[in-house]
Amino acid sequence: MKIPLVDLKAQYDSIRNEIDDAIRSVIENTQFILGPEVATFESEMAAYCQTKFAIGVASGTDALQLALLSCGIRPGDEVITTPFTFIATTEAITQCGATPVLVDIDPKTYNIDPQKLRELLERRFSHQSPVTSHQSPLTAILPVHLYGQPADMDTILELGKKYNLKVIEDCAQALGAAYSSHQPPITNYQSPVTTHRKVGSLGDAGCLSFFPSKVLGAYGDGGMVVTNSREIAENAAMLRNHGCKQKYHHLVPGFNSRLDELQAAILRVKLRHLDDWIELRRQKASAYSQLFDQVDGVQPPYVAPDSHHIFNYYTIRLDSSNHQSPITRLSRDKLREHLNAKGIATAIYYPLSLHLQQVYKSLGYKPGDFPESEEAQQEVLSLPMYPEMSEEQVVKVVDGIKGFCTHVD
Ligand SMILES: *Cc1c(COP(=O)(O)O)cnc(C)c1O
Repeated sequence: MKIPLVDLKAQYDSIRNEIDDAIRSVIENTQFILGPEVATFESEMAAYCQTKFAIGVASGTDALQLALLSCGIRPGDEVITTPFTFIATTEAITQCGATPVLVDIDPKTYNIDPQKLRELLERRFSHQSPVTSHQSPLTAILPVHLYGQPADMDTILELGKKYNLKVIEDCAQALGAAYSSHQPPITNYQSPVTTHRKVGSLGDAGCLSFFPSKVLGAYGDGGMVVTNSREIAENAAMLRNHGCKQKYHHLVPGFNSRLDELQAAILRVKLRHLDDWIELRRQKASAYSQLFDQVDGVQPPYVAPDSHHIFNYYTIRLDSSNHQSPITRLSRDKLREHLNAKGIATAIYYPLSLHLQQVYKSLGYKPGDFPESEEAQQEVLSLPMYPEMSEEQVVKVVDGIKGFCTHVD
């Protein structure tokens, strides 16, 4: 019995009739670009994310770039994020002509370290009163909710407000995740839920990805910008469609970045199952974590008390600080091979911190600049995780890891 990282075929089998009908109906209807499926999906997603607006775009990467542009990020600006994320996060920043400013992660959550973020901002603005901070090239914070767990949004929102920075959330791995915030919403829109608020509704804008392996995956590429700001929504809608509001009347230089009608129809079917699938993911995660409780050297994911983690990825950490443990940081890759030989797929998100990537040489970072990210890149391992996974499969993965632990010197 092979255990894949995700099983998209099993998911399709469970919704085959609904999906086939949805696809057929778009083809019969022949309205393939910005038709009724996209419009309806956008309003369903806005409701789901507790935002006023949702704009379907061609990918999660485009969602990030269009959200940044829609928030007014311009060439020469600086945008804060972490080095421990997928390259799309920083790519979107550089594609706007802006520069990523990196802050290390919290080693427990893998999200931006709120204390280090505060220190960076205090350093940067120490000679300036916050009131004049709009003259600084620092214009936005781009927190990533990595693996499906919200970043420390209360601190981020507080600092964003204090230093006049936009907050754009990378929710590519965290659709459906929620956070109990004590900060008021950025716009005066009152969220219907007061305690647990969905990611994407907390900052100025949120960016979603419908890449096939994400919790809500299309059968191709897709993405979305969600926001409570009418201005940001109008900008994003204009930018995705050649910079026009009215056909052939172009107001700004834009893009061809639309979510297509077929993908929207597929995603609308899947959205109806999303909360059930998230609940199943959370059940697998809790089964995994209970079983890992007795396994020396394996740290199950830490879940912050104020966050509702949706486990797009279930990522363990091989504890290198525990020298009694047979698993050391050097053997993470051996454990991977061991599991692979047993037919168990795993993944490393991410094996090389962005500050060490060749493409970012010109940013001038060096090894040692972000020690927590560099340690995490050697110790994390993401295990099979999908709603259709059986408890038996979870047990088999854990047994595979236990077997490795007891047979290594
Ligand atoms: C997947 C992902 C993206 C990009 O999404 P695409 O739809 O593949 O363009 C951006 N950020 C993070 C953290 C992601 O995981």
